Amino acid sequence: MNKLRCANYRDEKRLDILNSRSTKMAKVIGLASDMSNIKAAYRLYKTNRGNPEKIIAGLSKISISKEMGELLSYYYDHPMLPIKFIDKLRDEHSFRCCPMCGSFSCGTIDHYLPQAPHNIFAIFSLNLVPTCLCNSKRSNRLTGKNVNERFLHPYFDNCLQQRLIKVDFHHLDSSPTVSSRVILPASHPDFTAVNYHFEKLVQKKLENYVQKRFIDFCRRPAVYITPLRENPKSIGHLRDIFEWELQAKDEEYASKNNWNSLFVDALLDERVFAWLASKLFTRGRLPGMPLIPL
Ligand SMILES: [Zn+2]
Repeated sequence: MNKLRCANYRDEKRLDILNSRSTKMAKVIGLASDMSNIKAAYRLYKTNRGNPEKIIAGLSKISISKEMGELLSYYYDHPMLPIKFIDKLRDEHSFRCCPMCGSFSCGTIDHYLPQAPHNIFAIFSLNLVPTCLCNSKRSNRLTGKNVNERFLHPYFDNCLQQRLIKVDFHHLDSSPTVSSRVILPASHPDFTAVNYHFEKLVQKKLENYVQKRFIDFCRRPAVYITPLRENPKSIGHLRDIFEWELQAKDEEYASKNNWNSLFVDALLDERVFAWLASKLFTRGRLPGMPLIPL
């Protein structure tokens, strides 16, 4: 989960250039009205900041020919020079934090409003979100049954800049288990959207990842937090190590909701921190030793 900067790709200008160069486009029936309607639809998209409920309601008054819609999808699959930025967008984000779920790869591009039936937005940059394979889990779903239930939009939802999720570890002395929750106040205007997005797209995968990472960390703490290759000097020193690690992970992935940051944030929970401190400060413990039996 991450907020993406809106790059200025000048989409309408690129559409005009594409139109002037494309023999395929010139043959499409109703071209002139299609062009103005495509631009009107994109204005609607931007005005409503990618909110699917509002955009879809507005689209009832805007349509393009079936041929033009198919052509836009064709150009997305076969980008000509004016829209080559699509390949660049995919390449630039390949190894970055997924803005939709918070995992650590973005090998594909997701149409936030899916091409079927919204191919009117097929080549517009603000509808193209670099993601991992979580986009296949979302499929063509956009909203839930209740008002304000929707997937977050990485280009428009500013709440993605703040930490939204808290991970909790349980049963630390036996078999650690994990739960997670949204920490945005329920009164926040985006709470319903964040909670829907989290439950549908993030929660299960995040909990699986963090549980495995916690167990691996307890077995080999210095591998996951390098300063623990030496025993911390004091409780304050240990807290400093974790807090620095949290800041480093936030900066490394340019996201406060990447899964490694959420893992370290959970280690700073008072109960978890106290448990870890009791293990790390066990008398006679050698640096790097496991915190739990192997
Ligand atoms: Zn993802």
